[in-house]
Amino acid sequence: MSIVPVLQRPIDFLKGLGPRRVEALQKKLGIYTYKDLLQYYPFRYVDKTLFHKINTIATTEATMVQVIAKVRSYHLAGTGSSERIVATLFDETGEIEAVWFQGIKWLQEVLKKTNAFIFYGKINEFNGKYSIGHPEIEEYNKHKIHSPLEPVYPSTEYLKKIGLDNKAWMKAFENLFATIHEELAENLSPEVIQHFGLLSRIQALKNIHLPTNFILLEKAKQRLKVEELLLIQLRLVTQNIIRKEINQGFLLKETGAVFTDFIQNNLPFSLTNAQKRVVKEIWQDMKAGKQMNRLLQGDVGSGKTIVALLAMLLGIGNGYQACIIAPTEILAEQHFQSLQELLQGTGITVDILTGSTKKAYRKKLHEALQNGQIHLLVGTHAILEPTVVFQNLGVAVIDEQHRFGVAQRSKLWQKNTLPPHVLVMSATPIPRTLAMTLYGDLDLSILDELPPGRKPIKTSHLYENSRLKVFGFMREQIALGRQIYIVYPLIEESETMDYSNLMEGYDIVCNRFPMPEYQVSIVHGKMNSVQKEFEMQRFVKQETQIMVATTVIEVGINVPNASVMVIESSERFGLSQLHQLRGRVGRGADQSYCVLVTGNKLSADAKFRVETMTSTNDGFEIADADLKLRGMGDLQGTQQSGLIRLRIADLSRDADLVEKCRNLAITILQEDAHLLLPKNTLLKATLEDMLSETGEWGKIS
Ligand code: ADP
Ligand code: MG
Repeated sequence: MSIVPVLQRPIDFLKGLGPRRVEALQKKLGIYTYKDLLQYYPFRYVDKTLFHKINTIATTEATMVQVIAKVRSYHLAGTGSSERIVATLFDETGEIEAVWFQGIKWLQEVLKKTNAFIFYGKINEFNGKYSIGHPEIEEYNKHKIHSPLEPVYPSTEYLKKIGLDNKAWMKAFENLFATIHEELAENLSPEVIQHFGLLSRIQALKNIHLPTNFILLEKAKQRLKVEELLLIQLRLVTQNIIRKEINQGFLLKETGAVFTDFIQNNLPFSLTNAQKRVVKEIWQDMKAGKQMNRLLQGDVGSGKTIVALLAMLLGIGNGYQACIIAPTEILAEQHFQSLQELLQGTGITVDILTGSTKKAYRKKLHEALQNGQIHLLVGTHAILEPTVVFQNLGVAVIDEQHRFGVAQRSKLWQKNTLPPHVLVMSATPIPRTLAMTLYGDLDLSILDELPPGRKPIKTSHLYENSRLKVFGFMREQIALGRQIYIVYPLIEESETMDYSNLMEGYDIVCNRFPMPEYQVSIVHGKMNSVQKEFEMQRFVKQETQIMVATTVIEVGINVPNASVMVIESSERFGLSQLHQLRGRVGRGADQSYCVLVTGNKLSADAKFRVETMTSTNDGFEIADADLKLRGMGDLQGTQQSGLIRLRIADLSRDADLVEKCRNLAITILQEDAHLLLPKNTLLKATLEDMLSETGEWGKIS
């Protein structure tokens, strides 16, 4: 037995791999230890229990087939790189050709044999004639159990090239399991194993790599998913608990006159029940003496801004300063304007700081912040710079959190002697499971109610050759006094193609909607902030009826009189972006519309996105669809968070398990927050192991 703990043993120790393959695994796949190897899970399995009869190949839906057949004849064809060997295979139902381009010499020997083989390969069709491309061959032996489920690894093609074909791979795992079987300890507590009815760790690992049958494979997956998800949740819930214990926060003593006066005199509408509930949740945090770290999720238009303001007023009323940070200057500017308006006559001073704040002004602003003259600062990430010092920051809000990273959240913590209360807001609804995993260390508040009187937005899809219809519809709406957005994709502001599309579109719109009857605004990323703001204001003040823009208006913008959102080249946008854009309308009492204009040819994905958008307004449904479509890795914010590196669980498909693991984690930690009870010793060790590996303990704010 070696002294090195079994999982940390380098793969060089493993019999049968050889130095060349070891090096390739290390360099190309980052597999250095037994543990790395064990966690390199197959991503699918080929079911080798299914055999096709040759006469069913033309009609099967499978792309790969496996037949038991003999060789009738074979011949060589072609020369040079197209040289190939073509064999005619037969079983009791018919004949089919098989073609190989490689290994011709060896095949000539093998195919001579008259006994039956198992051929496994891809079905090819050419002019209605079927053949099998490059099938694997194995001699058929009635009495031998052929490996029923063959694992396919993420880089199987590459692995084959370095001599790690499936057989070698399975051999390697057989050797590995032979050496570790005795030593690999269980890492979940008996309670957890019993709770879910799980396989043991070693059984699970064996069956994920060398499955004996479908049932055990499923159980293996289940076990490894639970392990992964439960540990993540234990970590997140622990962080949340520890943070609350350690991170003292500013104790707000009373709701204060500032807050109550505002509610009485300045609030322009009555709050929805959801808004009231969330404000209460925030207040519970603030008066508890612990630092608040809360995520406010609410669909577009659910009224998050006013909740943020009320949270800030609670701080200001208790003698602290507050700030709100937005991802774009346009949005910061808009918040500045509307907060100023809302706070008129309250004596609360509001100011704004963005990347384009002039130097001289900035200097004064810094002073006013330090001596407490500014109560509420609105801005972009410019606020996070260390040169920006508050006298006494007590409440910080981050709007459209998904546009920021975790790092930004933690920068806020440095802004005062104690970290301020932090409220992060996100309109991009993310599925509950993702929220639990991404933001599991935050407390969650949800605005699940829209302000009264909103009519669901009507969404339709038109091909670009019926654009005239769109123009006609726009005219009708403008005649009713409404305003219209037309958005062009400009994903990279430097893409000149997109830019000329935008300008061309703008010209056409100006032509169709001529002055002086119509006025058209334009906003895009190449304009400076003064120009942008000028155009934005013309639209806000209803001096222009049409706003031609890029996605710079995607987030947060609020012009309730705008009731039509036309999205050009919609097929180029992702679902969450489309939903955000659509959320710019439907903010007032009028019926609003969203028109998705696309080219005539749509990919299957694009079609699915368009259909999703026209069939639902529900942000959570859309988020789910998005998750299904794109998978986890792609979703905004998941990578930067660094939190999720799921190897086997899938937040969308395993939503149920995520929830169960979260609940179990909470139950365990509620009873034993520091995992000190003997029954939790194993979990504690596993968790510490994981944390020492990732070094992430406590770093997440
Ligand atoms: P979001 O959640 O997308 O940030 P906003 O805060 O911009 O939404 O609010 C959208 C619109 O709804 C704004 O015009 C706001 O004034 C209005 N609003 C918010 N809450 C209410 C309410 N309780 N009753 C009526 N209108 C509201
Ligand atoms: Mg908003």
